[in-house]
This record gives sequence, structure tokens and C-alpha cells, in this order.
Amino acid sequence: MPPLSDLSASVVTAIRAVLPAGMAGGRVALHEPLFAGREWEYVKECLDTGWVSSGGAFVERFERMLAGEVGAARAVATVNGTAALHACLLVAGVRPGDEVVMPTLTFVATANAVSHCGGIPHFVDSAPDTLGVDPARLERHIAAIADRRGGAWVNRRTGRTIRAVVPVHIFGHPVDIDPIAAMCRDLGMFLVEDAAEALGSVYKGRPAGRAGRLAAFSFNGNKTITTGGGGAIVTDDAELARQVRHLTTTARLASGWGFDHDQVGYNYRMPNINAALGCAQLEQLAGFVARKRALAARYVDAFAGVKGVRVFVEPAFARSNYWLNAILLDAPAGAAPGAARDAVLAATNEAGLQTRPVWTLMHRLPMYRDSPRDDLAVAEDLAARLVNIPSSPSL
Ligand SMILES: *Cc1c(COP(=O)(O)O)cnc(C)c1O
Repeated sequence: MPPLSDLSASVVTAIRAVLPAGMAGGRVALHEPLFAGREWEYVKECLDTGWVSSGGAFVERFERMLAGEVGAARAVATVNGTAALHACLLVAGVRPGDEVVMPTLTFVATANAVSHCGGIPHFVDSAPDTLGVDPARLERHIAAIADRRGGAWVNRRTGRTIRAVVPVHIFGHPVDIDPIAAMCRDLGMFLVEDAAEALGSVYKGRPAGRAGRLAAFSFNGNKTITTGGGGAIVTDDAELARQVRHLTTTARLASGWGFDHDQVGYNYRMPNINAALGCAQLEQLAGFVARKRALAARYVDAFAGVKGVRVFVEPAFARSNYWLNAILLDAPAGAAPGAARDAVLAATNEAGLQTRPVWTLMHRLPMYRDSPRDDLAVAEDLAARLVNIPSSPSL
């Protein structure tokens, strides 16, 4: 193992080597959106017609295009991905006091959506080959802690019902979701797929977002396509689609000229002006994914000769959208966990290359410190060694 300063310098050199000519000197962001299509035209149409908010043709058009892209029967567009997950979990039946199983290695939105239902996230470990939930370990954990009581699975350590499982496709790399979906079917747990990062990714020949009855996407400014802020739920199930549409539209009833509502709903629908941006972005999705995959391949080449560093690549059964590229650093013998990561983060950011550690693991956040969990050693190890590197489609 070379000293950490040599390692950091090699990482800076390797990242610079893949940057387009003319960019090699300047600052490089981790992820910036690219507006190279009909964004101006569609947004201007909203302004010209006055249809900027709820209502308007772009929302429906965006939902149709998205459903087509994912191969789902229906899509319901929302204000952001967290709202989409929240609505999914509510129709999945997550109620106050229920536990929802999810990875500790994810963005905080996954856990927050559970909390918004009054639920309690229950954290499980990750697989080193996907960065997502480890299906075999998940199954062993559930078998070890869950008892069947009155038609539901109860965590015998906490006495709470385990209502749902939320696997996440980390950085766009498909989690091995078939065995997780099979377990959920066998046990009668609801599977909600957090596909926020995985638009355009493919799992065993099927687009990400097809494993369960509900999946959530995000179109935040840093995601593969953006609507400014935005999200969506996709499903094949007409009744579930009706329920999430209703819930996210203030539970409003069609009632002549007035406003009438039949439950506490949410103002979660995507405005037309955001959907306009989304339509223009979706038209470019295939191109964005191709650019991202090409960038990942260039990173693999550039890092091939760098000792102690590996570019994380898609598992054999999947095609990733490579939303965020990541490098995995070897843990140098004798050094503190995270020492190589911190040295690389400092050197790259000081060189004007924006890099980031993976999100603080959920069970380390103050609000989730006491949540139930399995052993999380793999996620801890990954978090100490992962660094996200610049991944904009413009690169
Ligand atoms: C982006 C993201 C979300 C949703 O985030 P919003 O910012 O609310 O759109 C959910 N889960 C994961 C894993 C994400 O990366």
C-alpha cells in the first residue's frame, strides 16, 4: 500500500484523466443536470398558457412517458421522491408503530418516509457486490426475529409488526431484488421499491422499478433526470394507482363545482411546470444513460493502474445507469477505518474535484440511533471505503 498522500494524488490524477479537454483545470461538481433538449420550449409553453401549477397537459404526458420508460401500466407524479415513498408506504398499510425493513446504507429520505407514516425503520446490512440489501442475510435475519401472529409478522424483540420491506438501488446499481420479492410474497410483507436513483437501470432484463407492486422514483436536481424537484410512483395495479393518486391530491373527490375530501390527504402532486421540464428530460434519458455508462467505463480505465482503488461496477445480472460513480478504497493495514477515504476526500475537493463520502449510515443519525437493526458490519465497512466521484452527464 502506498502512503495516503501518494494514493490521494493518484486519485486526483485519474479523475482528471477522464475529464473532457478544457475542463481539466476548473472546478468539477459531483453531479449537475444537463438541459440539452426542449426544456426551454416546454417551460415557456407553461408560462405562455398560464398552466404552471396543478392541472395541465404536461403532468399527464410525463406520467405516460415515465410509465412507458419503466414498462409499468401507470405512473403518478409527485412533488418529490420522499412524497412518492410516503404515499407508497401509506397504501402499503404502514401505520404508526409498524416496522419497515430497509438498508442502513441509503439516503435519509428512505427512512424519513417511514417516519412520516409513524413507522419505525428497521435496518439491515448491504451486499458488497450490489451495495444494496443482502437478500440472504435479510432472510436469515427475518427468520431469526419474526414470529407469525394473527396474520402478521411481529418482531419478537420489539413486539411490533414488520409491515414492509424497502430495498434501494444504491447509486443506480440494481439490488438483487428477486429473492427479496420472493421472500416478501412468501411472508405476505409489502415490497416497496426505492428506485429513486435507478431510472434507466435494468435488473435481469427488466427496468428497475418492476419487482413489487409499487416503486418510487426521484427527479431531484441531482438525479439522472430532473424536474427541479419531483418524484413518481409506478405500478401495474389500477387500484393502488387510484389510491396513491387520491392521497397525493388532497384526497379530493370529483364533486361538481366545489371541493370535497374524504380523508386527510396530501398536497403531493407534481406541478405542470415541473412536469414540462421532466418531459424534455425524459426525451433525453437514453442519451444520459449512455453518457453515464461511457463515463464509468473511462473511470475503470483511468483507475486500472491505481493500486488500492477499485471503481465500483454493476453486478453481472444488471445494467446500471451509473447515476453516481463510486470508488472503493482498500483499507490500508494498520490505518484507522476511513483514513484513506478522508485523505482522498480532502485531496480531491482541494483540487476542485467535488467528491463525497456515502451518506452517514441511517443507524448513526440521532433520530434513528435506537431503531431496531441486524448486524451492519458490511455497510460500516463500505461506508469507510466509498467515495463518490464526479458523474454529471456533461462529463
Ligand atoms: C433522492 C432519493 C430519494 C428521494 O428524494 P427526494 O429528494 O425527496 O426526491 C429517496 N431515496 C433515495 C435512495 C434517494 O437517493
